[in-house]
Amino acid sequence: MSEKDRLRTYRGKRNFDTTGEPSGDHATERDDDEPVFVVQIHDASTMHFDFRLEVDGVLKSWSIPKGPSTDPHDKRLAIPTEDHPLEYRDFEGVIPHDEYGGGTVIVWDQGTYRPASHDKRDRPVPFDEALENGHATFDLHGEKLHGRYALTRFKGHDEKPTWLLVRTGSGGSGGSPDPRRARSARSGRTLRQVAEESDGGAGT
Ligand code: MN
Repeated sequence: MSEKDRLRTYRGKRNFDTTGEPSGDHATERDDDEPVFVVQIHDASTMHFDFRLEVDGVLKSWSIPKGPSTDPHDKRLAIPTEDHPLEYRDFEGVIPHDEYGGGTVIVWDQGTYRPASHDKRDRPVPFDEALENGHATFDLHGEKLHGRYALTRFKGHDEKPTWLLVRTGSGGSGGSPDPRRARSARSGRTLRQVAEESDGGAGT
């Protein structure tokens, strides 16, 4: 599937005359050897974290209501959402209220990751294949998140596939950040500060 096709759902949900989110039309070739990840905090109709991993030129995305945890005992529900354009990793600001996902977004963490999935004979599994198989492990090198995490697919009670994000190996006990106090890795700002500094504010 071409990059454009993969972003059709993303584009179909948004009016780029109104929202400041990137359209993904100006995709740039990246030659960095390590793929990127980003975790955004999104104060939409319900507060959540958006976890995104670069795979094949797009950001594979999951909505995580409670946010990623550094505690290996925490299993975090991760609901798959539409692929986002790579440029989305820089997006921080306010999405207008009448738009899809209306609310404030900050970049809570950003960095690179290294795929770490292996098969039974300990051979590396390509990351897209690991995701397709429903189990992918990776090492995050972020400003806040470090170390190995795993995403595992399962069938929820309504038979819809959903995922769990878990810190594997030795983690910490810090749990997840309080989204209202958390600060942007890009600008040091809180959700409230971004909302207040945006034209028109968030209205709440
Ligand atoms: Mn979101």
